[in-house]
Amino acid sequence: MERKKVVVIGSGVGGSGVAALLQHRGYDVTVLEKNKFYGGKCHSFDRDGFTVDCGVHMYSRGPGGNLLEINREIGGDIKWLAKKNAVEMRIGGEYSLAANSGLGSMLNMGRTISMITRGKATGALGRDPATRRVKGLSNALYRTLRMDDSLLPALKLISNLVSCNEVLISDLDDMSLRDFLYTFTDNVLINQMMAYISMILTCTTYDRVSAGEVLWCVIKQFTANTLGVPEGSARALPGNYLRCMARDGGRLVLGARADKIKVDSGKVKSVVTDDGTEYEADYIISNAGIQLTTAMVGEENLPADYVRRVKGLEYSYSFITIKYGLSRKTLDFKGAPCFFNVPNMDPETMYDYLKTGDAPEDPHLFVPMQSEWDDTAAPTGQQLVIIGVLGPVTATREDAEQCGKILDRADEKFESMFPGFKKNAVWSMRTDNSYYSQLTGKPTADCIGLAQIVEQAGVRKPGIKTPVEGLYLVGCDAGARGVGTDQAAGSAIAVANNI
Ligand SMILES: Cc1cc2nc3c(=O)[nH]c(=O)nc-3n(C[C@H](O)[C@H](O)[C@H](O)COP(=O)(O)OP(=O)(O)OC[C@H]3O[C@@H](n4cnc5c(N)ncnc54)[C@H](O)[C@@H]3O)c2cc1C
Repeated sequence: MERKKVVVIGSGVGGSGVAALLQHRGYDVTVLEKNKFYGGKCHSFDRDGFTVDCGVHMYSRGPGGNLLEINREIGGDIKWLAKKNAVEMRIGGEYSLAANSGLGSMLNMGRTISMITRGKATGALGRDPATRRVKGLSNALYRTLRMDDSLLPALKLISNLVSCNEVLISDLDDMSLRDFLYTFTDNVLINQMMAYISMILTCTTYDRVSAGEVLWCVIKQFTANTLGVPEGSARALPGNYLRCMARDGGRLVLGARADKIKVDSGKVKSVVTDDGTEYEADYIISNAGIQLTTAMVGEENLPADYVRRVKGLEYSYSFITIKYGLSRKTLDFKGAPCFFNVPNMDPETMYDYLKTGDAPEDPHLFVPMQSEWDDTAAPTGQQLVIIGVLGPVTATREDAEQCGKILDRADEKFESMFPGFKKNAVWSMRTDNSYYSQLTGKPTADCIGLAQIVEQAGVRKPGIKTPVEGLYLVGCDAGARGVGTDQAAGSAIAVANNI
């Protein structure tokens, strides 16, 4: 029997994942990638013996998540490197907390959380069944916090109630995380921590992010308990998927930018690339993002209300970086491979700089050192450190100027906490919004993809199926929940199962 032809546009985690799954299930797959390299935001490159992540990654779920579920099905050989004591965390340079990837330790912040004294239930919610369910949860949390001065039992309670209850998660999709927290506590420290957690997991501020989405991410991450990295840096994920696809007979075409998706009588026909080559397809799966995909199809081929919705979608904030190759083991985060600086600021204003064009007073820092998990990331005895800090969404000239100021501030702050580390730097480089925008081909430099805000997360997220028959979306713009890469892989599984 003739095999159905699938053309995948883009080789990010979503594109390469679905390509490998479908080729393995017997389809005839071609992946078109506009860059000369594969992987999208999970691209890595070699520099002076280091394998450098183009982004700044730590992965929320390994063997317990979607990335390795794909690997298992296609017979890949991704090696997962997890550590129990994954993170050393500082709040405003003052409190120092060791956090491991298990729910218990991460949230059992003894001293710090014992500041919880002002829990309150607002009683502001209405009477319909969904708000009654949320209110029930909020009251239970309030009571738990009153009985015990630690956030841990409250979060265990959320975990028990929510992890096995998709209906409650969907109810919580209609509330921002901030509004949800205020139904049972106005404690500043909890709000500060959750504002940080919202940004680290979704790159979206806690006053807009869907409570359901963040709680889903937190619960899945801590119950999987496998916070870590793949051996071989970020590129090991798409690289592995694409190698399996090639082993099974599929093909990857690098330097092939899809310019047009041709449609005939409401059904996909082919993809035309920038050099004029036409690839006939029974199915087209686009990893280029929902807005660029809509432009490639042409608005005339889509219903007006779909186009209106797509144009109004919002993207997550960016993560911009400073990367250092260090000639010897210089930094020690008390044995942990990753360091967080939680800004010591009012959670209401912590990220205002992203809207005003300024640099942050106390920057949110996310600093994983791949070389502390993975011996192959740096030459023996040397260290790779990547300092990540939140940046604006778009990639205009003004944004580039702002990124420069933000990165200077992040660098200063990190050096003030770890004085003298730069004396061992053999090289350093920066990646800003223009870098990520070029990498993906989007006008935005979004870290994740679509912002996981109330109006567009969970049940309100755009679906993987478009109104054009045979045209699907894959990646962080459609179809799945979760943290960046895990979400992209979840979307790949959803598309493969749907086709
Ligand atoms: C700095 C940074 C830090 C991050 N940190 C984390 C983290 O710690 N943990 C985590 O889980 N996630 C993290 N992420 C997010 C994660 O990397 C992304 O959410 C995920 O990789 C997105 O995958 P995707 O499948 O949506 O596609 P993308 O990576 O966006 O890939 C899309 C691909 O499509 C290609 N393409 C676009 N248009 C065309 C076209 N017309 N023709 C052909 N090809 C095209 C692009 O070149 C690209 O290769 C981070 C991202 C960044 C940038």
